[in-house]
Amino acid sequence: MPWKGSRNPYHIWLSEIILQQTRVAQGTAYFNRFIERFPAITDLANANDEEVFKMWEGLGYYNRCRNLLHAARKVRDEFNGIFPKSYEDIIGLKGIGPYSAAAISSFAYDFPIAVVDGNVLRVLARYFGIREQIDTREALQMVNEKAAILLDMQEPAAYNQAIMDLGATVCRPKIPLCDICPLQQKCFAFKHELQAVLPLKKPKLKKRNRYFIYVALQYKDNFLVQKRGSGDVWENLWQFITIETDEMFTKEQLLKVPKIREYLQPGHAQVTSQLLKTQQLTHQTIHGQILCLPIQNKIKLAGFTWKKAEEISKLAFPGLLRPWILHQLSTL
Ligand code: SF4
Repeated sequence: MPWKGSRNPYHIWLSEIILQQTRVAQGTAYFNRFIERFPAITDLANANDEEVFKMWEGLGYYNRCRNLLHAARKVRDEFNGIFPKSYEDIIGLKGIGPYSAAAISSFAYDFPIAVVDGNVLRVLARYFGIREQIDTREALQMVNEKAAILLDMQEPAAYNQAIMDLGATVCRPKIPLCDICPLQQKCFAFKHELQAVLPLKKPKLKKRNRYFIYVALQYKDNFLVQKRGSGDVWENLWQFITIETDEMFTKEQLLKVPKIREYLQPGHAQVTSQLLKTQQLTHQTIHGQILCLPIQNKIKLAGFTWKKAEEISKLAFPGLLRPWILHQLSTL
């Protein structure tokens, strides 16, 4: 991890936000691109929203990106562009929870504060034999108290890094390497062979299936697009005309849907239809299908705007649309 060992709070913050819902292998390339393009937090604060969203494209969970911009601008406007030093100021930045605030305070400033991420939770739940569901407030509170007691006050940053690394590399979720674990002798889970059971988690909610039909109206190298609103997935990302249905349809069926028929123009060129790669979100599975309708005359539609291919390539779209867009633009 390129940020490991860094004392730069901007780098630590950025990596923490990127890694909130992204694996290290994927997040590293994004982190490097962000640092290269925005060497200082004020560079990020001064950036155009559209550019930052485009750079975030592929990481998903765009709320993180909105929070990133909000926090960067707050640091610019309220802290003279210098990342705050107190825990209270750090946790006051949008998108930063107790874990991230503790990580920044510990790794950037060596504050004596215990960092409890998912890896640490797992180690402590197994080591102490915590039987409560670990994602409840009570269990989190219990783990935080134990973590605070265990913290090495002389070298808090080194201790935090060590226990996080132990969770990531030895006390792994599926096959913990107990044989080489330095905590083995006193570990409750090892003694009682409960490694596969602990930590206890709430049963996962069943995901909801959603079906999005995209209608891409194409006039020469222009496409009709709109920005998604708030209150649903992919807030502020771009999309084509979108119709949500209860199932997938064949192309022939789609062309009979009244909402789609209204866009068909006499003498329109070949219509193409393609299933999109299903996208998994935390509580939803999104199935997508796109219908490309080349048209002879630009139509006007409230809330939509025509964008040229080179503009389209700079806008952020949901992940399931990207491969289709890249392919479509390459054929123009
Ligand atoms: Fe985890 Fe096994 Fe070590 Fe216990 S002994 S902390 S279960 S790796």
